[in-house]
Amino acid sequence: MTTSYGHLTWEEVRDADKDRVVILNVSATEDHGPHMPLDTDTVLGMAVAEGVARAAPDEVLVMPPVPYGFNEHHKDFPGVIWIQPETLIAFVTDITRSLAHHGFRRILLLNSHGSNHPCLDLAARKTVIETGIICVSASYWNLMSERINALRKSAIGGIAHAGEFEAAMYMSLHPERVHVGKSEAQNLHDPKSRFFNLDLAGGGGGAMLMRWWSEISPDGTMGDPTVADAGTGEKFLATAIEETTALIREIRALPILPRHDHH
Ligand SMILES: [Zn+2]
Repeated sequence: MTTSYGHLTWEEVRDADKDRVVILNVSATEDHGPHMPLDTDTVLGMAVAEGVARAAPDEVLVMPPVPYGFNEHHKDFPGVIWIQPETLIAFVTDITRSLAHHGFRRILLLNSHGSNHPCLDLAARKTVIETGIICVSASYWNLMSERINALRKSAIGGIAHAGEFEAAMYMSLHPERVHVGKSEAQNLHDPKSRFFNLDLAGGGGGAMLMRWWSEISPDGTMGDPTVADAGTGEKFLATAIEETTALIREIRALPILPRHDHH
């Protein structure tokens, strides 16, 4: 059977193994510096999802992606399409409710755009409360922080947005669309700060301030794309697929537990 949800017929959905984990990638359409296209988060998120489908073809189904996200703070850069967080949560929850209605019991909201993280966390929690099925959210870089740090060339601060991580992976897939020669290193991390850290593998800082993107980055980049290379990108991507596949297998093994209403 195909792993692509959109290629199924309704009869195949009716007869499908409902313990397959349905993967929904949610991304964004936004500036990624002068060196990368607007579709970066969708291309990378779907490369991870489709890689998982190749690694575990009997265990997952991959939904068509949601290529828009919560990113109004990017709108000073031409091309950005932004969705209000309430709309995004409602939209994603309508998709998960539909899947639950058709009998699917296990969903992974696979995030590939940083600011979607809290929205998808809430959408997953709402799905559990409203439908009783298992719905998990994860930003794929959070599944592999230590392994990113073992592979990276850039210092902390070099992997935030359109930096080494995303540029290297996109180069490994479509080198003709990535032009790191047009980019500059923009490491905005303050090593003296105890609480603020936007590096995707930097362990977080404990506190979050998301400013207008144009206040903090002159060209949309945050990080160091200049050290990106396709070989490392291939390793980042293979690692993302491996760790997401491991997560899928844990999700498949989770028990469906009964509720106990103690009124
Ligand atoms: Zn991105």
